Amino acid sequence: MFKVLKSIITLKCPNCREANMFTNPSLININEIANMPKRCTNCNQDFVIEPGFYFGAMFVSYGLTCVLLFLSLGVSLLLYGYVSRTWLYTTIGAMLFFYTYFFRVSRVIWINIAIFFDDNILNL
Ligand SMILES: [Zn+2]
Repeated sequence: MFKVLKSIITLKCPNCREANMFTNPSLININEIANMPKRCTNCNQDFVIEPGFYFGAMFVSYGLTCVLLFLSLGVSLLLYGYVSRTWLYTTIGAMLFFYTYFFRVSRVIWINIAIFFDDNILNL
C-alpha cells in the first residue's frame, strides 16, 4: 500500500513503479502538462488503455480538490471558529498554484484504479 501511495505521489508507472508517466517532469510548462508516452519505457505498460481513458481523471481531480478545500476550511474552523477571507483566498491560491500537480496526480490515480481492477478481477 505504501509503495502504491509513493508511486502515485511521485507520478510513476502503476505497473513497475519506476518510470515516469509524463515525458516532461517539469510542472511549470503548462503546454506539456498532459504529454505522456504511449507505453512505459521500463515495463511496456500501456498508458492509453482506451480512447478518452483520462476523461475519468477529471472526476478524481474534482474529488481531490473538494477534499483538500474542505480539509483546509475545516482546519480554519477548528483553529479560529470561522473561515476568514484571507484563509479562503490563500487556500484557493495554493490550489491554483498546485493545479498542474493535481492534474497529473489525478491521471496517475485514475490509471492506478484501472490497473488494480484489471489485475484483480481478470485473474479470479
Ligand atoms: Zn512501467
